[in-house]
Amino acid sequence: MFVGIIGLGLFLIRGIQSSGNKLFTFGKSKAKLVFGRKPDLTFDDVANYEEAKEELREIVLFLKDPKRFLKLGARIPKGLLLVGPPGTGKTYFARAVAGEAGVPFFHTSGAEFEEMLVGAGASRVRDLFDKAKRAAPALIFVDEIDAVARKRGTTIQSSSTEQTLNQILVEMDGFERHDNVIVIAATNRPDVLDPAILRPGRFDRRIVLDLPDIDGRSKILEVHAQNKPLAKGVDLERVAKRTVGFSGADLENMLNEAAIIAAKDNRKEIESEDIEEAATKVVVGPERKRKRTQKDIELIAYHEAGHALVSKFVPQTDPVHRITIISRGMSLGSTMYLPEDDELLISKTKIVSKVKTLLAGRAAEELKFNDISTGASDDIEKASDLARRMVMKYGMSKKLGLVEYGKSDKLKYLGYAYQDQRDYSEETAREIDNEVREVINGAYDEVRSILKKHEQKLDKLAKILIEKEVVEADEFEKMMVDEK
Ligand code: ADP
Ligand code: ZN
Ligand code: MG
Repeated sequence: MFVGIIGLGLFLIRGIQSSGNKLFTFGKSKAKLVFGRKPDLTFDDVANYEEAKEELREIVLFLKDPKRFLKLGARIPKGLLLVGPPGTGKTYFARAVAGEAGVPFFHTSGAEFEEMLVGAGASRVRDLFDKAKRAAPALIFVDEIDAVARKRGTTIQSSSTEQTLNQILVEMDGFERHDNVIVIAATNRPDVLDPAILRPGRFDRRIVLDLPDIDGRSKILEVHAQNKPLAKGVDLERVAKRTVGFSGADLENMLNEAAIIAAKDNRKEIESEDIEEAATKVVVGPERKRKRTQKDIELIAYHEAGHALVSKFVPQTDPVHRITIISRGMSLGSTMYLPEDDELLISKTKIVSKVKTLLAGRAAEELKFNDISTGASDDIEKASDLARRMVMKYGMSKKLGLVEYGKSDKLKYLGYAYQDQRDYSEETAREIDNEVREVINGAYDEVRSILKKHEQKLDKLAKILIEKEVVEADEFEKMMVDEK
């Protein structure tokens, strides 16, 4: 895709940053208390994640009927950590646990403590735990725990957040057997957590919520479609198939946007096209009118045409879904692909192809204009990241072999931002750089020759893009086979 100087973008319909969280940030005020007499959410509202539900059902039982466990000498867990990327329903799940158990829910977020005066955070925590104990059985939810619980020594911890964390731990260590307060914490950065919080008796249970697979997406869509009139043609399973990489929040957001589009149009039902439009909006952001010169438009058109064309002539790529030079969100144009399956294992061929596809925007600019622009910075970042992973993590470089370079936390999982610790020599660092550069440069050379070879198609595609701003999959495919 083609982004301005600040790159936000995405490559595929995946790896999206979601709106998550915003729904439940109750400002900087006191921990929000949601009384559980009339639970507003139950496990029925949470789709997917059956295993997580099973484990959380246990927590519900502890809260409802602790005696059952105490009588048998079982230790009741004090803390549980929900780990998952933004929008996977961590906050939502925690509320459902409280709702399901019918207990009060105390909600706070690590971020609230970040800019507090020394001492204020700790006293707020004390207050919160006191209140919860008085209301017991009760659930305390600490969102974004990483904001106060970063590994000591890795970042500059303010003494306030450190005190806050200490106070949380002191409170948890001080729970009595009969206190019947359980603390659920959530994070999307398990890699930065201070191991002290994971010790037995603290957050010693962990539940990982991954992005939903096709089945999961289907179920989540069903939950959120319940109160929305869908037209006959809408097939949620098909929607699930086409939303690889969407989180629960993205899906919810998409259906909501679709409803808004239909309502604006004054229609009574939500059509497939509304959902399609809403999905694009969720992925790339809303349409934005921007002033552009004819030269900008041509550059963007060639850039996007380059991406699409090369994806067609390298192996194992996802089919092109739509190419557009309409500005949306941060991007000035985008080429969308439609992954056909959730990927578990990705081949080297596929990664190299992704790198090539990413570099193709820049290559097309260079080929046609003899000049290059800042528009490819986001593509370059992604391609470099992939190449680096190939060399350092996936053992895909002959020269450097099957060695992992850079220690990363075991808790991290694919697609996560993680911090690496350098565990290799200066010399190896140089070799890594060379290898990465070689992957990129080799790919770029090939991309250039592909574009040269198919320059007529490139011209044709760019021309149509300039004319119509959007080229859909079928038209693109037709154009590609024509003169083969
Ligand atoms: P997180 O806290 O992990 O960032 P949230 O709990 O804020 O995510 O999720 C945001 C919204 O996404 C929820 O309010 C809900 O509407 C939707 N959602 C996420 N996961 C699910 C799910 N498994 N089932 C139903 N809705 C979900
Ligand atoms: Zn691009
Ligand atoms: Mg949240």
